[in-house]
Amino acid sequence: MSVNLRHEELQLEQEKRRVALRRARELKARIDGYLKEKQNIPNGFEIQEEYCQAKAAILNYFQAGEEQWKDWHWQMTNRIRDVKVLGSLLKLTSEELEDIDKVGRHYRWAVSPYYLALAIAGGVKGPVWVQAIPSIEETKDRYGAEDPMGEEFTSPAPAITRRYPDRLIINVTNQCAMYCRHCQRRRNIGEIDVHKPRKALESAIKYIKENTEIRDVLITGGDALLLSDKQIDWLLTELDNIPHVEIKRIGTRTPVTMPQRITPELCAVLEKHPPIYINSQFNSPLEVTPEAKEACDRLIKAGVVLGNQAVLLKNVNNNANVMKKLNQSLLKIRVRPYYIFHAKAVKGTRHFITGIDEGIEIMEQLRGHTSGLAVPTYIINAPNGYGKTPILPQYLVENKGEQITLRTWEKRIIPYNLGGKSH
Ligand SMILES: *Cc1c(COP(=O)(O)O)cnc(C)c1O
Repeated sequence: MSVNLRHEELQLEQEKRRVALRRARELKARIDGYLKEKQNIPNGFEIQEEYCQAKAAILNYFQAGEEQWKDWHWQMTNRIRDVKVLGSLLKLTSEELEDIDKVGRHYRWAVSPYYLALAIAGGVKGPVWVQAIPSIEETKDRYGAEDPMGEEFTSPAPAITRRYPDRLIINVTNQCAMYCRHCQRRRNIGEIDVHKPRKALESAIKYIKENTEIRDVLITGGDALLLSDKQIDWLLTELDNIPHVEIKRIGTRTPVTMPQRITPELCAVLEKHPPIYINSQFNSPLEVTPEAKEACDRLIKAGVVLGNQAVLLKNVNNNANVMKKLNQSLLKIRVRPYYIFHAKAVKGTRHFITGIDEGIEIMEQLRGHTSGLAVPTYIINAPNGYGKTPILPQYLVENKGEQITLRTWEKRIIPYNLGGKSH
């Protein structure tokens, strides 16, 4: 090889490296803003000191210890639903307490001690607090319907909601460890905890048996994991005995609101019935705590695949950096972001509703800016039970058959010939 050729090759290599370095500098500049902001958006691991203080105060109030804290039955029976308890744990004004009490008489509230400790740690009226503690805004909502999605008209059999060709929901309970203030099924929450009677569940199973196109069954509520291990085992066994049911899904917020529910005994049941997919609802990075991680680790060891369905909520997560930190924190505990739901106008939840532009902007700030694994699908539920509808920023700006125009994540407008011709 001639000395000259070798020299040219080296020069070309150096030029390529220079271009790549310039591009890398550009990419580094794109993330600067987030890296600074991220420091101010703690996740649950980063507020452990505050959490432990709040937990100690609650345990002291109940005269209980670590063993009880870890027991989900203790967490359930000691759910806080009374302003007297709140008032003795925190410095709230009598007006604030009266407001909570007043709203609580319209719309029931109850918070597991675990989730209340997190709410206190995250700050009064912070992103965890507002999901759990009644706000006077709930009574000011004069619009909004009880059932804006017309779910009542999509139930072909007891306990079933069907909106799709090959999958459906079984509603097993109205009970929850914490009653979300943004709950979309408020009308079902009522004043008392009730599991669906065995007879209704048997009718639901019968419907699934008779409709052989159903290959995917979602067990939800309320919170499906508030059934006993025995009831869950029974239901999963019934579903496993139906040859056309290929997968089971469980909808539960317990990994977020009461991770103590995820016991070795429950996991032993779940492990017997693969394949199981569990979707939870983490809405704030503050909810990604060491205890939530432990619960997720156990589920994963039992062979369960984990996903997250966040709800886009004003003053909780209607901010791209918060969503980014949430989704990145979830991936660290092996929970894959699946959906972001646009909140519906259910009566009493208006103060959580955001504009659709906010959701689109969040999607814009996720795609390309962070791992594709951290990018869920943004969904709005169509009225009348017509189903989940994806909303996303426009990336295909022109489509003339072979000649298209793309808009990239950095907002570069690029003509592209699919047939490889230059234009
Ligand atoms: C959300 C939902 C499903 C599941 O939808 P996927 O997009 O498959 O996750 C199924 N049935 C009903 C009634 C639903 O609301």
